[in-house]
Amino acid sequence: MKTSGLSGGVFVPPVSFSLMNAIRPNIRGMAGYVPGEQLNSPDIVKLNTNENPYPPSPRVFEAIRAALTGDKLRKYPQPFGDTFRKAAGKVLGVDPDSILIGNGSDDILTILTRAFVPEGGLIASPTPSYILYKSLAEIQGAKFQTVPFADDWSLPNPWPVAAANLTFLPNPNSPSGSCLRLPVLERLAEQVGGPLVLDEAYADFAEWNGLPLVKELPNVIVTRTFSKSYALAGIRFGFAVADPDTVRELLKVKDSYNCDVLSLAAATAAIEDQGYFADVRDRILATRGRMQAELSKLGFRVTGSQANFLWCRRNDKPVKPMYEALKAKNILVRYMNYAGYGDGLRISVGTDAEIDKLLAELRKVV
Ligand SMILES: *Cc1c(COP(=O)(O)O)cnc(C)c1O
Repeated sequence: MKTSGLSGGVFVPPVSFSLMNAIRPNIRGMAGYVPGEQLNSPDIVKLNTNENPYPPSPRVFEAIRAALTGDKLRKYPQPFGDTFRKAAGKVLGVDPDSILIGNGSDDILTILTRAFVPEGGLIASPTPSYILYKSLAEIQGAKFQTVPFADDWSLPNPWPVAAANLTFLPNPNSPSGSCLRLPVLERLAEQVGGPLVLDEAYADFAEWNGLPLVKELPNVIVTRTFSKSYALAGIRFGFAVADPDTVRELLKVKDSYNCDVLSLAAATAAIEDQGYFADVRDRILATRGRMQAELSKLGFRVTGSQANFLWCRRNDKPVKPMYEALKAKNILVRYMNYAGYGDGLRISVGTDAEIDKLLAELRKVV
């Protein structure tokens, strides 16, 4: 039998060694997060992953072009993104030292999990909601507990999970687009008994947000992304706002250079162009209102949305064939089916032309 070790100067691994089996059991046991379909053919009407249907600010293209000059690509980027932090701090009215930059807000959620949750610890989140949180718990080797939303998308009072190491609450929530109000968030922050992460990926489309709570309450962290409201899903940039002492600790957990020169330049230019940002947001909100009315007329039960998508369910007919019929016509929406809850279509707000196409096809199939 061969044994491991050096044999004639050549490393001979044990015959029984399997690299795959050396992977931690929690990783082998998990299914892995499945992102939405990314079919990027130009004739697809893509309404399945809540990207912005409009381009980013023209200033973003200028900033990226400027970042390509000189020797900026040859050198490492700012490790903490200080130029971005200063710009974002000014726009949001927060201390730049309270901002943690991330390679997409999913990177931020990973950093928070690694920092707060020990192996064997507990992560809590509501359901139906963003399914990435479960994958983060599985990777960390932590337990995951869900708390069902009520039919009206409220949460139980009192919150039933005592002492989670981390509680994730997307607000506005996905797939519902519903948004809990500040007094409810304050109460939850008191009840969760640990850090409460308000995942505000869609907050720019909502009438209120939890950012003021970061200063008022000791355990609230807010996360934001540039993927949706700033139309930069391809650039991968997000950030968290937490108290500066906490951020100093979180900086130790992130990769040294987790955001690159181009994404930092793009995000800084995008957040500095608040005029363009507001125009795009207002257009999306107008289309969302029209979609809500038209989809309701077609017989969908549409949840009131504070986000850039609508959660559409029906009692009379299955929705999966509608998803398939739309896909056959190159219109992609997200079909979601949650154990113990049921299914529905989550439809992103597109341009008016895209939504007209969607509605025309839906009229044929409902
Ligand atoms: C889109 C989304 C994110 C992730 O955004 P990225 O910045 O693209 O990683 C986080 N949370 C929720 C609820 C989202 O829908």
